[in-house]
Amino acid sequence: MDQVGHFIGGKHVASTSGRSQDIMQPMDGTVRGQVALGTVAELRQAVENAKAAQPAWAATNPQRRVRVLMKFLQLVERDYNELAELLAREHGKTIPDAKGDIQRGLEVVEVCIGAPHLMKGEFTDGAGPGIDVYSMRQPLGVVAGITPFNFPAMIPLWKIAPAIACGNAFILKPSERDPGVPMKIAELFLEAGLPAGILNVVNGDKEIVDAILDDPDIKAIGFVGSTPIAQYIYSRATANGKRAQCFGGAKNHMIIMPDADMDQTVDALIGAGYGSAGERCMAISVAVPVGKETADRLIEKLVPRVESLKVGPSTDPTADYGPLVTQAALDRVRGYVDTGVKEGAKLVVDGRGFTMQGYENGYYMGGCLFDDVKPDMKIYKEEIFGPVLSVVRAANYEEALKLPNEHEYGNGVAIFTRDGDAARDFASRVQVGMVGINVPIPVPIAYYTFGGWKGSGFGDLNQHGSDAFRFYTKTKTVTSRWPSGVKEGAEFVIPTMN
Ligand code: NAD
Repeated sequence: MDQVGHFIGGKHVASTSGRSQDIMQPMDGTVRGQVALGTVAELRQAVENAKAAQPAWAATNPQRRVRVLMKFLQLVERDYNELAELLAREHGKTIPDAKGDIQRGLEVVEVCIGAPHLMKGEFTDGAGPGIDVYSMRQPLGVVAGITPFNFPAMIPLWKIAPAIACGNAFILKPSERDPGVPMKIAELFLEAGLPAGILNVVNGDKEIVDAILDDPDIKAIGFVGSTPIAQYIYSRATANGKRAQCFGGAKNHMIIMPDADMDQTVDALIGAGYGSAGERCMAISVAVPVGKETADRLIEKLVPRVESLKVGPSTDPTADYGPLVTQAALDRVRGYVDTGVKEGAKLVVDGRGFTMQGYENGYYMGGCLFDDVKPDMKIYKEEIFGPVLSVVRAANYEEALKLPNEHEYGNGVAIFTRDGDAARDFASRVQVGMVGINVPIPVPIAYYTFGGWKGSGFGDLNQHGSDAFRFYTKTKTVTSRWPSGVKEGAEFVIPTMN
């Protein structure tokens, strides 16, 4: 049985809270171990360690700092299979998908190796008589990240890598549902040469999250999870004077124009809608065919594909997707399907009754497909986060565009078409943060930024790319004049460039 405590000051530290939660193995419903639910005092211990270690780390030159990231990449390469298996067993996704989760995290680590360049300031020679002006980016100090269950490697790495590359110390509070990989990441960074105390992992629930939000020594918080919690964290963190970026839930649409290649579209939709059991913030959960003929062709091709999805345990490399993360998640998703039926949507493929032979206690669900979903239905308005795809039929392009534009969420969206004009118009007018043109899951590559609009993101700066270096640093601007440029006599008027 795994007993997961905290990782503080370069060491595993047991919790004294007396509170813990089971870590489940979704593929068979067994208990893998327990994770501690930490206390305010344990958070303080992590903060004290981080505060003590951070000044020396910030004073280490940036090239030496990123050498630790380079070494970390090598160590993950060494332990890749072990990490992917642990991730798949705790989360439920398949091992190939778990490898993708790790890989998308590593791609951000790779970009952060450019930190010495990305942190460079600006310089103006001769801004006035004998005056030079320059700016520099300095780390914030101690910063924290609170992350969700669905990408237990990728999202922690999106936060840890830029934060530490910039010279901060980091405190991670991962999801209590799959804390194993985040703990391994901390061990690997230590082995790579990161000084003890620069990366700490505290485990827990609301109690420790609230302690992070209220701790005066934590200067910035990056959150990823559901929208109600994102809003709560953003408002409490900013009320406490912290910098915050909080990313929330999603309802991602795919608009299918009449000229789209239907075979390619269906391939894309099957992967983006049902991969990882739909537990991705960039999963497509709404397909919007434009025109009746497009909709009928789509349904005709989609139904047999959804019916033949291969659901399997995380250890089956041939499975399309694995179980949901918990029994509660399974009950919630099944509940949404029941609601959709009651609301009058047409359930053309019903995966509710699926059981996995030999894994009867796992949290499996077959693919579900709804046709004729209407925008006022709960199954359209809310995030389901499961293997359920809703088809909302639109009469024309304008009606289709209105759907993502008027939706509460604005994380990702896609259009499938061969028409360049339509694609260009869509990319320009759609009110969503990340757009795919014939790309179903438009997660931007690591050197661009990731972030949703509207109810999917709170705060000004996105994750990774150049925004991460802005988020984890503060700018200082220096105006200098040396004696050769100094005029005689005191100046009482505000200096201007006249
Ligand atoms: P969640 O909101 O339940 O949990 C996220 C984190 O918040 C966890 O660390 C959890 O311990 C903590 N938390 C939960 N309840 C809390 C409370 N009441 N007070 C304080 N902290 C609390 O989310 P989840 O179920 O782990 O993840 C799934 C959600 O995350 C989905 O809504 C998904 O769309 C979203 N997500 C968004 C993005 C994005 O980039 N926009 C990426 C991945 C996941």
